Amino acid sequence: MNWISEWALPKIQTWLGRTEVPDNLWHQCPACNQMIFHKDLERSLHVCPHCGHHMRISAAQRIAYTLDEGFQRIELPKAPTDPLRFRDQRRYADRLKEAQAKSGMDDAVVVAHGAIEGHRAVAAAFEFGFMGGSMGAGVGEALVTAAKLAVLQDAPLVVFTASGGARMQEGAVSLMQMPRTVIATQMVKEAGLPFIVVMGDPTTGGVTASFAMLGDIHIAEPNALIGFAGARVIEQTVREKLPEGFQRAEYLLAHGILDMVTHRGEMRATLARLVSLLREKRPAEVAVAAPEAPAA
Ligand SMILES: [Zn+2]
Repeated sequence: MNWISEWALPKIQTWLGRTEVPDNLWHQCPACNQMIFHKDLERSLHVCPHCGHHMRISAAQRIAYTLDEGFQRIELPKAPTDPLRFRDQRRYADRLKEAQAKSGMDDAVVVAHGAIEGHRAVAAAFEFGFMGGSMGAGVGEALVTAAKLAVLQDAPLVVFTASGGARMQEGAVSLMQMPRTVIATQMVKEAGLPFIVVMGDPTTGGVTASFAMLGDIHIAEPNALIGFAGARVIEQTVREKLPEGFQRAEYLLAHGILDMVTHRGEMRATLARLVSLLREKRPAEVAVAAPEAPAA
């Protein structure tokens, strides 16, 4: 068999003048198993055109799909890496290096500033591919930077979450990022700026238990898994069968945890509308902001 694939096939392809066909031209939808051509997938923002399944996308794609052209990515301050010199089957330092090489990122969050349909905004996006989007000191640092930038630029903060929770390899340091990110997003609120959280699949653990549930507006993508502990753990603890669709975006919307479930194709327009509504000055406020000059 080997001589066919290694010798005969390339020969035939050379005679036919055919070039090697990359094997990632077609993607299989994990929900409905249909094949999707890669160009169609890009055009549909990685939502299956057959069943509407929202596939996981990278932090860079999130930013590109949300902000207008000409946005700028922010250089993030360095955080202490591997404070505990942690090791399980492998050293945490090695895992971190591997994730950095694979993603080209320092840690699991990208921060950028620009505009959403003309409205100034700061956006931060989690990269689930980077150690499950887990929140350690680096992610905490990124969110603090994003919040400070929003305040400095007098712009709303939009955070796209996709995380398995706290980064256990950083132990207590990762847990400290929970109050830290809460304080950071509180700064945005105190400055009177909107803080919007867009929850992607999955948003769980320490991220759900901190800043992600404290947004002014909570949006999620269809069928996104959002929760604190896993369904199996809860089932074993309460010894009860959990209802259908438990911890899914639609269930949480029906139970008041979310404000809206929005299709990825409409996310940008929805965010632009929200920002414009929240930032619109009411006539009374305008009058207070610009008092008439007293007569001399
Ligand atoms: Zn599908």
